[in-house]
Amino acid sequence: MIHRHSSVHQLPVIGLILGVLLLGSGALIASEPAASPSPTAVPGGIYRWPLPEGAADLRFNTRPVLTRGAEALVGLPLSQPLGPAEITYRLGDQTRSHVFEVSDKAYSEQHITLKNREMVNPNPEQLARIRRESSRQRALYLAFSDRTPPQNGFLRPLEGPVSSLFGHRRFFNGEPRNPHSGLDIAAPTGAEIRAPADAEVTLVDHLYYNGKTIFLDHGQGLITMYCHLSEPLVNEGETVQQGQVIGLVGATGRVTGPHLHWSVSLNGYRVDPQSMMSMLVPGDAD
Ligand SMILES: [Zn+2]
Repeated sequence: MIHRHSSVHQLPVIGLILGVLLLGSGALIASEPAASPSPTAVPGGIYRWPLPEGAADLRFNTRPVLTRGAEALVGLPLSQPLGPAEITYRLGDQTRSHVFEVSDKAYSEQHITLKNREMVNPNPEQLARIRRESSRQRALYLAFSDRTPPQNGFLRPLEGPVSSLFGHRRFFNGEPRNPHSGLDIAAPTGAEIRAPADAEVTLVDHLYYNGKTIFLDHGQGLITMYCHLSEPLVNEGETVQQGQVIGLVGATGRVTGPHLHWSVSLNGYRVDPQSMMSMLVPGDAD
């Protein structure tokens, strides 16, 4: 374990480590520190930070950061190096920084066989389309609207078994590809997909890999994406309420069967949707 303690608010971290060490030595210690460190400060996770009073203009890698109530939620990319990472912020007329520790998470491998080879090695024309679409999606993920972030939890958009976890290191027909940037939920074609929280619809389109796709903007850099739909049921620019049906499950784009690919993005980085669901609990933003 590597630790950098530069300020008083990180003292609970030391408390937890002491607790763990004492437990390890067989002592009966049950005292939890008042504030434990974020268990998900891992690549692809979310770092939750209780804000110092008066902190403003928070940034991570120069990107604005979501704040709600007295805390900040910072999305960490899957490519985030382990070790210290930094949030900068303003306090009065001073610029300050808060250093936190990113620890390792072992993501497993997943091997997928696709019969349609154009989905593994697209031709030049298809590649041009894919590049256009991915730069458009990147821009949508970097949006930072002033809409109020979710105050009433963050719902699972669809019932059904998880068929692929976020963060899997993936191989298509043996060739390494980017890690899995969302959560796959298996469900029959036509199953209803619901908005996890209030949002504005920022994209409805048919994309090469993602098939029929919807983007939702939940405010302050929290963006979600729904892929492979058989049918979207919303329009760009529309406002949707938490729990509203936004589309139907399908098998469009690069898929082996009907399912929902659900991506959750925070400050422009795809994070584990399951972390977001466990972090945003109804009523906790008061
Ligand atoms: Zn997926």
